[in-house]
Amino acid sequence: MRSINLLVLTVTVLLTACTTPKVSSDPKPVLGQLKVGFDIDDTVLFSRDNFLKAPHMSDDPDHVDFGWVNMHDSLYSVVIQPIADLIGFLHSGGHEVYFITARPGTNGETVGRFLTSKLGFPIVLGDNLFFSTKKKDPFSGQRFTTKHELISKLGLHIFYGDSDTDMIAASVAGVRGVRVVRDARSVEAYSKNYFGNTRSEFEPKAPFSEELYQKFLSSGVGPYGETIYPIYFVEPAGTD
Ligand SMILES: [Mg+2]
Repeated sequence: MRSINLLVLTVTVLLTACTTPKVSSDPKPVLGQLKVGFDIDDTVLFSRDNFLKAPHMSDDPDHVDFGWVNMHDSLYSVVIQPIADLIGFLHSGGHEVYFITARPGTNGETVGRFLTSKLGFPIVLGDNLFFSTKKKDPFSGQRFTTKHELISKLGLHIFYGDSDTDMIAASVAGVRGVRVVRDARSVEAYSKNYFGNTRSEFEPKAPFSEELYQKFLSSGVGPYGETIYPIYFVEPAGTD
């Protein structure tokens, strides 16, 4: 009986040794390689004109036809060159760059083609480009960012964005959030979700005046403790 048991044990050990170990389909992270995420509007693209020209789906001023917006960056959006240079710096250093926008994803592949043509490496929907719209909390009715879910899933280390919600998403995901300064013309066109709303009267959700906003910028820190990227976008003369 003991010899049968020994035989069974020996065969089991041999079979286990011959079995090929299961390999994860996910590529292993490269030691020391950063994974860096970027918001798109007012971070990589100065897209104010695209939004101003976009048709609306209803009388609600926020109800923009994003399917149209995603098709028209090539006509109305301009790359923010200091950020394009930063992306080139990261990409050429062997780091991975991802794009996460809160735009709805209709015609999203067109955004990928536009960014590819401007940034010089493949930017592909579902690969390194993601659409992540806000979601309404069923209890409070408050709309929250969902970008943190992708930031965590992709294993990003840094997330750059202009909006308050970008900094919140980075914090919820537990990564470094870096604030890109929104162009003054975009602040003029839509001031919400940016240091509260520096154009609004004082109220609990908008306590920061223009003067306090300038203080944040000169100190290089934002209201969520985020770092401020200290290079501002200056559009080439004659383009506006
Ligand atoms: Mg933005």
